Amino acid sequence: MKMWLFLAIVLLLNFACSKDQPANNAETKHFVLKWNENQATTQEIEEAKRFAEEVYTKYLEYFGVENLPQEKTIINLGGDAFSENGGAPRIPFVNENGEIFLFRFETGYLGELPHEFAHVLRFYKGWSSDGFLEEGLAELMSSKLFPENVGFSLYGFSTTIAAGLWLNEDNLIPLQELKDKHFDLNLACLVQSYPLRADFFKFVLEEYGKEDFMNFIYAPDAGSYGSYERIYGENFEALEELWLQNLQQRIDALGDTQSQLQAYQAKISSLQFYICKRGIDF
Ligand SMILES: [Zn+2]
Repeated sequence: MKMWLFLAIVLLLNFACSKDQPANNAETKHFVLKWNENQATTQEIEEAKRFAEEVYTKYLEYFGVENLPQEKTIINLGGDAFSENGGAPRIPFVNENGEIFLFRFETGYLGELPHEFAHVLRFYKGWSSDGFLEEGLAELMSSKLFPENVGFSLYGFSTTIAAGLWLNEDNLIPLQELKDKHFDLNLACLVQSYPLRADFFKFVLEEYGKEDFMNFIYAPDAGSYGSYERIYGENFEALEELWLQNLQQRIDALGDTQSQLQAYQAKISSLQFYICKRGIDF
């Protein structure tokens, strides 16, 4: 239920900022795009129509038609993420009707679409009540199906690099803390929370296989501590430890680790993300 409360709050904040309903729309086989006159160019609309269908196709291949939305998904293109007055950007989200809201970042409108579509997929098949799982799953699938994606949070890098940046670092947020304090830490620490969760679930998926992963995410108690232990035979704490060891091995095995870590670090520094600090934020 907390997920709904969170979405409702985000929704209210966003509605408070937008003055009018989108006046234009365009349809593809599986999507309806909506925008106001000044919010999207013809080129952006054409690109969104093409890319949305590509996203649908890749999710269809991975999850099967029975797990995809049975009706067209609405995508709202809401204009620039950053206002001229500065301040925090508007963050893409899925509302309580399963509609996607995207905003224009320096990478365009579409960098966050694969992530948001994973939320829509869950919306139609039932969310878990666990934000840690839902956000982790969305970022995992985005990185897995669209590894070249240049949007938040990986900017075209692997989860190994984006999560590895925090490995052996004082500001590595423990997963259990990210899970227990999801609503406090998720957006406040987003440049840490999104890659760390995505890489954790990448490890779980690749180590234990797709069948267990599907059983896990569609379990009635998906994301609960008990669901990890039941399906993976390890408790969450043990899985976190195994993941950290595995991440270290992957980092050590990369040939050009340092240059990739530096390039990713430079990218997130240029975007001026706040970095949560041990003892202050967590
Ligand atoms: Zn999300």
